[in-house]
Amino acid sequence: MTLTKKIIIYMIIGAIVGVLLNLSLFTIETEEFDFKPLFKRVMSLENFEEVRNFTDSFIVTGVFLVVGKIFLYALQMLVVPLVFVSLFCGTTALKDPAMLGKLGGKTLVLYLVTTAIAISIAISFAYLINPGVGFHLPNDLEFTAKQAPSFVEVLINLVPRNPVQAMATGNMLQIIVFSILLGLAATMAGEPGKRIISFFEDFNVVIMKLVKMVMELAPYAVFALIAKVFAEIGVAAISNLSFYFFTVFFALIVHALLVYPLMLTTLGKLNPIKFLLKMRTPMTFAFGTASSNATIPVTLRTVTERMGVDKAVGSFSIPFGATINMDGTSIMQGVATVFIAQAYGIDLTLTQLGTVVLMATMASIGTAGVPGVGLIMLATVLTQVGLPVEGIGIIIGVDRLLDMTRTAVNVTGDCAVTCIVAKSEGKLDETVFNDPTAGDIKEAHAY
Ligand code: ASP
Repeated sequence: MTLTKKIIIYMIIGAIVGVLLNLSLFTIETEEFDFKPLFKRVMSLENFEEVRNFTDSFIVTGVFLVVGKIFLYALQMLVVPLVFVSLFCGTTALKDPAMLGKLGGKTLVLYLVTTAIAISIAISFAYLINPGVGFHLPNDLEFTAKQAPSFVEVLINLVPRNPVQAMATGNMLQIIVFSILLGLAATMAGEPGKRIISFFEDFNVVIMKLVKMVMELAPYAVFALIAKVFAEIGVAAISNLSFYFFTVFFALIVHALLVYPLMLTTLGKLNPIKFLLKMRTPMTFAFGTASSNATIPVTLRTVTERMGVDKAVGSFSIPFGATINMDGTSIMQGVATVFIAQAYGIDLTLTQLGTVVLMATMASIGTAGVPGVGLIMLATVLTQVGLPVEGIGIIIGVDRLLDMTRTAVNVTGDCAVTCIVAKSEGKLDETVFNDPTAGDIKEAHAY
């Protein structure tokens, strides 16, 4: 069995185990959702509490937490060296700085356009479904907002004052700028440059080996990550916000299954079914980790080894996309803005809606792909259009599950744009793209 299949099977089992644990032990009884945990019905209260505490501390926040976190940290451990080294090698392989500029420009424009399309779809769906109309506002709402950086700050901060600090804090845009500059310098530095390049090429091979080693852990970790989330988030949390939840969910599905395939067919002349099938692994990872950044090692491997994108293009556009391209996140922001406005009984003007599209697109540029960052961006958007930021307190309960789903869409967008740009520059190997087994990892042969 390939690793991909194994990961997906473990993910499904994880979801089932999580839901069962939730229903039998952890589901919360609320006024709106009158459902007692199954074990509470068949056990004495004392036994039930004992079983619940044991399962919670030894399994859910024990084994699941440890296995999931170790894997997440291992992925994060790979991100900075992987991006730095592969982007350096990519730049030196391209040789031509003008080509880099052209690639960068195309990628940036497509990333921004897809984000703007995503948020427009989200706002339209929100006005069709009206998830916030008649929503009963709770009295005890509280949410303190962090601010997303302003556009000017993002622009200035593109230059890493201290590249070591950029790497230590995992500042993706700064790492990208530094790696490209260093790569360009190396190509211009004659013999010493060549020696450095050959060292980095060897380093790149070693890092890719490390990626494969970490990936061997993936099925068990994905199981643990997903089982934990599903055990903790019950149906009760969603039931109250089901209109909001499903509007976001529906818009995410439409964007992933209609917009990207349409773009791939029209702009890239590429088969969208083949693309989506190969997206299974990165989507599962993104879903399990809720972080496009942590998923970079998997996304990068998918576009280069499974989809045939030239390494130079992929190593630039994937980390770039993980930071600036968040279509799924902007979908959540579009729906959430309309939902909060409706819940508070505030009518949004057309200008305000335009501001939402613009702000959500801009906010995505400066924020990293880590769990929950979408809510920080949402706070900026709400403030800009004068809506109460406390409104975020209403939707926070279902945000983790939506975060997981939208991150899967975020990475799909990164890969779709990467393939289209690569194809337009003659940097996509279509025989690899069309071969369903290309780049599969079979565990037995992994090393
Ligand atoms: N978790 C998302 C990502 O990493 C960002 C967000 O929507 O919060 O892409």
